[in-house]
Order: sequence, then structure tokens, then C-alpha cells
Amino acid sequence: MTAAAGRHAGKVAVVTGGGSGIGAASARRLSREGASVVVADVDGEAAARVARELPGPAAPVAADVSTVAGVDAYVDAAVERFGRIDLHHLNAGVLGTMAPLPDVDPADFDHVIAVNLRGPFLGLRAAFRRYREQESGGAIVVTASISSLRGAADQLPYQTSKHGVLGLVRGAAMYGGPRGVRVNAVAPGLIPTAIFGDRLAGVEQRGGTVPMRRVGTADEIAGVVAFLLGEDASYITGEVVSADGGAFMVNTVTR
Ligand code: NAD
Repeated sequence: MTAAAGRHAGKVAVVTGGGSGIGAASARRLSREGASVVVADVDGEAAARVARELPGPAAPVAADVSTVAGVDAYVDAAVERFGRIDLHHLNAGVLGTMAPLPDVDPADFDHVIAVNLRGPFLGLRAAFRRYREQESGGAIVVTASISSLRGAADQLPYQTSKHGVLGLVRGAAMYGGPRGVRVNAVAPGLIPTAIFGDRLAGVEQRGGTVPMRRVGTADEIAGVVAFLLGEDASYITGEVVSADGGAFMVNTVTR
């Protein structure tokens, strides 16, 4: 931690889905590294809890990232409280219902796409508008997934949304390159968080099947996010960084 202390000093960061799991870890990490952090989550109480515990300046916002009003709410809160936004971690996400293709509920499909794909689209759009208005760039990380890179029989809405995230990240990186804005994705593997609901115990067990023989932690993802948002990643854009204990290789190399 000490090597990176102060890495984000003076920066203003927004973390969506910051009330839990990976987003909460990212908010803590960016705060410890010196950033002022806006913790945005549809669960406003969770956002407030996380913001209260951060070591540096923080502001919680109740915001649904799938709506323009929700995205405006966290942007406005950041600008009102801290005057600007430099860093974005667009991370809010839902898993949706696990079901084989013929049984996927179209309403569930729409909800997962709204949060996981429309959310980052609206977030990227607002970020670039903000950077244009303040006449300075920044850095953005979107949380993708190992499901962005491979198939799964029973997670169609989730997998589709996360594949789409890579399209957003690459398009935004192309647009951002000449404007001094880097956009990257982090692709976590199995991280036991609330997203799995009552399937959490099974997740821990599945850790035994990845090359590193364990699940990851939210802090291990937060470290990648802090790196990608910082100056050490100054020539990295449009990239997808997997943090999955080698799990991706299992489905590609061993086939
Ligand atoms: P989590 O459930 O602990 O956190 C997700 C947060 O997003 C919650 O606080 C939730 O309230 C918030 N959220 C949900 N819908 C929202 C909305 N419409 N607007 C604003 N906030 C909303 O789960 P997590 O594992 O920390 O997930 C964070 C991200 O990581 C997600 O995008 C998820 O798809 C991705 N991811 C997780 C894993 C994993 O194994 N946990 C693996 C790959 C990718």
C-alpha cells in the first residue's frame, strides 16, 4: 500500500456500485491513495455506509446508473462537492437470473442489459461531457468480467451485457485517445460478493477449479483498478485486464 500512497492525491473519483463488493473495495483503495471519492449506488444506505468509512473526503449518492437522471445525480454531486471529476470506475452491475436459454425471462434480459450495458454507456457519455466541459481529461475503468471473454450456458443476459462492455470500452478508448482520456476494462474472475446472493457458497467451491486454486478478493480487483486509473498505466488504453487466477486459460488453452 505504501508504494502507491498518494498516487491519486488531488483527484476526484466516482465509483458506481460503490456500496458493496468490488466497488466498495475500489472506493476504499482510491481514498487511501488520496482521491476524493463519490460513492454512487442504487442502494443509497450502502453508499452512505461505505462513504462514512473512507479515510478521505467522500460523498455518497443514491443513483440508478441505468437512468440518465441517476447518472446526472452522481455527476452533479461530484461537481457540487468537489468541483470536478477526474477518475471514473463504472462498476455497478447485476447478475440476473441463471436460466438456460429457452427459459430466459425477457424482462430479466432487459434489466441486466439496462444496468450492465446501458449504465456504462450513460456513464461514459456523461464522463466525456464532463471532461469536455472542464476542458481536461481523465481516466476511466469499466468493470467487465471473465464472462466478457467466454461462454456460459446459463448466464445469457449477463454474458451478453459483459461482452457489450468491451465494445463500449474500445469505442470510448478510440474516441478518448486524442482527447487525453484513457478507457480500460478490468475483467474479474470469481470474487465472492453479494452479487451471487444465495449461491455464494458454491462460488467459494468453484475456486478450486481455477489454476490458482482459489477465488479472488475484491481488494485484488481494486488494485488493478487503481493501477489502470493511475499514471503507471499512462500508455494503456482500450485494454481488458483479466484478474481471475488464470481461469480464462482453462477454457481457451485446454480445449
Ligand atoms: P455486488 O453485488 O457486491 O456490488 C454491486 C453493486 O452494484 C451493489 O452495491 C448494487 O446495489 C449496485 N447496483 C446494482 N444495480 C445498480 C444500479 N442500477 N445502479 C447503481 N448501482 C447498482 O457485486 P460485485 O461482485 O462487487 O459486482 C461489481 C461489478 O463486478 C459488477 O459489474 C459485476 O458484474 C462485476 N463482476 C463481478 C464478479 C464477481 O465474481 N463478483 C466477476 C466479474 C465481474
